[in-house]
Amino acid sequence: MQNDPANPFVFLVGAGPGSPGLLTVRGAEVLGRADLVLYDQLVPERLLDLAPTHAERICVRDLPGNHPDKYPHIHKKLVEAATTGKTVVRLKGGDPLIFGRGGEEAEALRAAGLAYEIVPGVTAAIAAGAYLEIPLTHRLYSSSIALITGHELPTKPGNKLDWKAVAAFPGTLAIYMGIARLPVIVGELLKYGKSPDTPAAIVERASLGEQRSVFATLGTLEETRRHAGLEAPGLVLIGEVVAQRAAHPWFEGRPLFGQRVLVTRPSHQAGGMVRKLEHLGAVVSRMPAVEIRDLTDFTKVDAALNQLRRGEWGWLVFTSANGVHALLRRLDAIGFDLRALGSVKLAGIGPKTDGALREYRLRADVVPAATFSSEGLANALKPYVSGRRVLLARANRGRELLRDELAKIATVEQVAVYDQVDVTAPSATVLDALRRGEIRYVTLPSSNIARGVLHGFDETIRGRVERGEIRLVAISPETGNAIRALGYPVAAEATSFTEDGLIAAVVELTKRDAGLPTH
Ligand code: SAH
Repeated sequence: MQNDPANPFVFLVGAGPGSPGLLTVRGAEVLGRADLVLYDQLVPERLLDLAPTHAERICVRDLPGNHPDKYPHIHKKLVEAATTGKTVVRLKGGDPLIFGRGGEEAEALRAAGLAYEIVPGVTAAIAAGAYLEIPLTHRLYSSSIALITGHELPTKPGNKLDWKAVAAFPGTLAIYMGIARLPVIVGELLKYGKSPDTPAAIVERASLGEQRSVFATLGTLEETRRHAGLEAPGLVLIGEVVAQRAAHPWFEGRPLFGQRVLVTRPSHQAGGMVRKLEHLGAVVSRMPAVEIRDLTDFTKVDAALNQLRRGEWGWLVFTSANGVHALLRRLDAIGFDLRALGSVKLAGIGPKTDGALREYRLRADVVPAATFSSEGLANALKPYVSGRRVLLARANRGRELLRDELAKIATVEQVAVYDQVDVTAPSATVLDALRRGEIRYVTLPSSNIARGVLHGFDETIRGRVERGEIRLVAISPETGNAIRALGYPVAAEATSFTEDGLIAAVVELTKRDAGLPTH
């Protein structure tokens, strides 16, 4: 029943202006059950992570068909996929019905007898208002706003835009797709009597760390734009309200605004850190160097779980949140429940590991108070484990320090509960960006990851690191040492060895780099 209006298979979804958080809850819901996502080029790639792993993701740019106007192909693909019973999300920048041809796509679906739903999105003008703090309407200065396309050449015969009426419009003008034709557009507005002194602005990439804007008057807008090097796509705002903007818009005051930061965590764990950095205003790239995998052989883990259930271990020690999840998933998979861990004492290396335990309603009996490292954990455990049997649940590889230290006073065994494997082909796009100097801060959240990332660097990137153009930020002194052992300088080390500590170290470093006082 592809045409059941109560249960449509096709969704035209507005992705919002760029920042992934600006997708609606409904948009996220339907993305979460898509089989196919057909997305526009301008849609933030991170939103695609919301679709299930099995979902096919196709950028409409890559659809086959040599027609310069791809729309018929998009319609065809939409209809085809929906007819096979797939849940299709057509993800479009901003709002689907504002200069997005969403109406035409809906029409094609209607013609094919297919039911659909339209999920609105935050359109660029609304986002620009919020992120530049321009009150788009204002009790004293503007009681209306016009959304205008600048795509139509004003001098084109059959042009539908009445620029005389636009010039006389009593309110704020928001012009989409107008940068390439700005001189002509401004010319028309001036010709029809709009004052050259009217405040005006251009913003590109509103809501993202790359957000850039210029402020001028109508008469000086094009010259100001050229000076600043702002190119399409961008949005033009014209009207008295532009002068009512906040001098320091909230977003641009964020501590990492515009800073280019690389996140190197495994892909399934990068999301949280990426979001935190983006909220701080950063422009974030991702390049995982290692990935976490399930073991292929659980024999040893299963043996350990049986021993745990029989109460043969005094302590169970986790050195990562991954280890917690891997062991507890396996516990469940073989039909045990939490009572298997009923008598064992638990320890975790830091707050994140403790947090992972709490997700299962477990609590660590010991977590180091300050130093979230193997050393810190060994020291925290020593008073408790003397003469006891201690099981360390960890990755297939890592440091031996914890085992070596505890083995001095206790019976210690290690069991690998998950595999950590190197990514064989690091992202070529990110390496290129590093080569070109387009990424400044590289966050390194563990020694293994640091080694993986740095092995992928070539001489050009190494040169940039050595000259201080690329800054390596380590989560801990241990990771710092791993970096130095490979001959690279470390620009900063976190003082708290957690993700938040790592982010704080980047913030402090950017202040230092900008010559601002740090604390
Ligand atoms: N449906 C979209 C508009 C598509 S037309 C929406 O509702 O926003 C594309 C134009 O939108 C671009 O040329 C630019 O003018 C504007 N635009 C989209 N996202 C923008 C952003 N983040 N910042 C500034 N302008 C943006």
